[in-house]
Amino acid sequence: TETQIDKFKGFWRLYKLGVSIDRDHGKDFLDVSDALLEEVAKVLEFPVASMLPPEAFVVLRKSFDARKSQKEPKFVYTVEMDVDKLLNLEPRTWDFISQLEPKIGLIEHMPHEKVVGDLVSVIHDNKKIDQDRVPVENGHSSSLSGSKSPAAKKPKIAVVGSGPSGLFASLVLAEFGADVTLIERGQPVEKRGRDIGALVVRRILQSESNFCFGEGGAGTWSDGKLVTRIGRNSGSVLSVMKTLVQFGAPESILVDGKPHLGTDRLIPLLRNFRQHLQDLGVNIRFGTRVDDLIVENGHVVGVNISDSSGRLQFSSEKLGFDAVVLAVGHSARDVYQMLLSHNIELLPKDFAVGLRIEHPQELINTIQYSKLANEVRSGRGKIPVADYKVVEYVKGEDKDTSPRSCYSFCMCPGGQVVVTSVNPSELCINGMSFSRRASKWANAALAVTVSQKDFSALGFHGPLAGVEFQREFEQRAADMGGGNFVVPVQTVKDFMDNKVSATKLPSSSYRLGVKAANLHELFPVHITEALQHSISAFDQELPGFISNGALLHGVETRTSSPVQIPRNPETFESMSVGGLYPVGEGAGYAGGIVSAAVDGMYAGFALAKKLNLYKGEI
Ligand code: FAD
Repeated sequence: TETQIDKFKGFWRLYKLGVSIDRDHGKDFLDVSDALLEEVAKVLEFPVASMLPPEAFVVLRKSFDARKSQKEPKFVYTVEMDVDKLLNLEPRTWDFISQLEPKIGLIEHMPHEKVVGDLVSVIHDNKKIDQDRVPVENGHSSSLSGSKSPAAKKPKIAVVGSGPSGLFASLVLAEFGADVTLIERGQPVEKRGRDIGALVVRRILQSESNFCFGEGGAGTWSDGKLVTRIGRNSGSVLSVMKTLVQFGAPESILVDGKPHLGTDRLIPLLRNFRQHLQDLGVNIRFGTRVDDLIVENGHVVGVNISDSSGRLQFSSEKLGFDAVVLAVGHSARDVYQMLLSHNIELLPKDFAVGLRIEHPQELINTIQYSKLANEVRSGRGKIPVADYKVVEYVKGEDKDTSPRSCYSFCMCPGGQVVVTSVNPSELCINGMSFSRRASKWANAALAVTVSQKDFSALGFHGPLAGVEFQREFEQRAADMGGGNFVVPVQTVKDFMDNKVSATKLPSSSYRLGVKAANLHELFPVHITEALQHSISAFDQELPGFISNGALLHGVETRTSSPVQIPRNPETFESMSVGGLYPVGEGAGYAGGIVSAAVDGMYAGFALAKKLNLYKGEI
């Protein structure tokens, strides 16, 4: 009957469909291959896989699983089956569909509609946006200009910072018709690329255009990993991913279990993003730094800006705005000071510090894939360049100290170690890669959690104690390297034995030079011991992790924000002043490209709602 049929109509998700690598002959990453249809047929208990029409199936997720517990390495798929389409194309499958039952983790029924993020439709289809948008004067949202409701004045919004959070906040606000000015102290990607080139080749650091500052924010010259801990399948994450695809990212990021872009893909993507914002009417001001907020009667009414490039036709200017979105990242320490000068509340936040370890990529491939390592072929092979993720819990030093964790962070397979200082007297590093991840090195931070107790042990108190704590180790690292961005290093074996590496050092991807040093002299002893203990444990899990070819680099301090700027969880507005919207990593609400983008996007919706540009749900 109709009701019986309805019970099975809609979409079914089929999980954990394993296809061994020698059977996985899809033409491209998203292909529904014959081998995959065979796995689908097994789940449906359908006798002839070749009768299943590939058009009725969509790959939702594809990951490579080489865990030692598996009989053989394989690709693992999640697939969505459109029952209507399937029946139109192949009615003989009905008997099998009508036998299907949901099974936790293996088969799930999505009766009504395809599950994609609600916000996706808001940003992309303009269907929902037309219903929820409130008309504004002269706005591009003229789709409703013929409606009877009175036109509101177009609100003026400053978004400070063009990292992922600032870009997505600008996008949402501009889509809703706000008059957005995006202010960025750094340079557009074309010029920023030349400045970064001058840094890595000639050691010339531009304090306002570098690995942290400039179009795209800290995530541009990065590894471009798009993995996030905030719920891979949530509507908001999908919405960010779809936006990135719209601006030129490959569609595979929607499906890949470990999506990755790489710097070479991020740069054109950001150019497209910029063009789109400009088409929406966003005024983008590069080389322009916000030095101060203008606050009147407890409300932000504008910003003071200055020319950070030294090339623009103004020294400083006051600009009036209805609201300011602060998306400055966590390397803009001057901004934290400025906020304190307005008595805006800042709270110190726990984070993690450590060292960056680098191994030959071939070694990591071998550890992870054994004989299959040959299949990697510098990123051109079928299976991905190997990565790792390790974590170890270390008990506290005394009864008052909570356990610490030491974990690998921002692992960059086939990447390189780069300098992320914005000031030559402070040395800090991170990792980046290109899309093919073809370099001969694999690097990752090994970071140990630190808290206020650690900050006060070194005499740092108050809201910026964590910033002072970071700075202390960045200055020590700069001194140990001898200046000029030379990085202090120690082989892992020597670090375990607490001795300076005397023999020839293994090669490093770091371009500005390394110098042998005893990295035990960098951190307080409990952090060093936590690292030693954890490295031993990681070597158990990944035999060969402690090897002659592995080199530790100092220092990794900017793993996440050392500060949080309290805000109302629903409106995203600062708890201290009206009209200020602290977002992204620098405000302490994100850690990584995708989570920063999601935070900026939600803040954009919340502000649009406050400004009566949007009346829908968030
Ligand atoms: P940011 O990206 O830091 O952007 C802030 C922007 O604000 C900057 O462009 C800055 O110039 C601007 N700004 C600051 N102060 C002012 C001011 N006063 N006036 C005007 N403009 C200002 N994350 C991942 O998820 N995956 C990765 O692979 C990855 N790799 C990384 C590699 C490197 C080398 C680095 C440094 C970071 C990496 N990260 C990675 C972290 C990621 O880049 C950040 O989490 C993310 O960029 C934070 O986004 P955001 O918008 O909050 O801030």
